[in-house]
Amino acid sequence: LVSAADEEAKIQVEKDTFEAPTGAESFKFEAEVSRMLDIVVNSLYQNKDVFLRELISNASDALDKIRFLALTKPEYLAAEDKLQVQIEFDKEHNTLTVRDTGIGMTHDEMVSNLGTVARSGTTKFLQALKGSEGSESSGDISQIGQFGVGFYSAFLVSDRVQVASKHPDSDAQYVWTSANGSSEFQVYKDPRGETLKRGTEITLFLKEDCMEYADEQKLSDLAKHYSEFVVHPIYLRTETT
Ligand code: ADP
Ligand code: MG
Repeated sequence: LVSAADEEAKIQVEKDTFEAPTGAESFKFEAEVSRMLDIVVNSLYQNKDVFLRELISNASDALDKIRFLALTKPEYLAAEDKLQVQIEFDKEHNTLTVRDTGIGMTHDEMVSNLGTVARSGTTKFLQALKGSEGSESSGDISQIGQFGVGFYSAFLVSDRVQVASKHPDSDAQYVWTSANGSSEFQVYKDPRGETLKRGTEITLFLKEDCMEYADEQKLSDLAKHYSEFVVHPIYLRTETT
């Protein structure tokens, strides 16, 4: 017998560990994406800061999209009228979160945009990495965003990446998750329910040697640096304990 309180405790645990529930749908990354991920995560590339630029840039794109769509579909803003980016960190759990109130992704968009559909830039990016220094693993990964695969730079600093998203047309909030080095990702209905009114929340479970990113000063410096051309407000949430 499970009491309501125990149920809640179970959900709480899930929330903290973010394991995919058993029976979650699993997908294989498209072959070129998988190859690119292998190279990115195994590279000795030092300038890992660029992951934050890519996540902020994606958040900003998503906010531009909702702003534009709302011109003809004002109801899209009903759930949430603020257009903003929030960055949070948790030193205890060694996580970093970038949340936006942008357009969000439906279940199918998460599956295709974050893994199963080949992006023309992937092969070009692999070639550019090769071209720069002869060996694939030593190339300049910071160009990743120009090839339309910037999202995957999250794996430069993460053991696991989790994306929760709620699109205005979607029946529910969905979660995408993948572990560093895996050729697969899982997508499932968010067991936490609809914690986002609209938009996307990307949680990075930082690698042990990337804990420096769960730090207010570091994030504040990087966010300032990378938000120069972003018109939407970016808030850095200080640690709440
Ligand atoms: P690009 O931004 O150049 O399209 P990315 O690899 O950075 O390439 O992102 C891939 C796709 O994933 C985006 O085109 C978008 O469809 C989706 N995506 C990523 N981040 C977000 C976000 N925060 N909100 C909505 N969609 C997103
Ligand atoms: Mg991008």
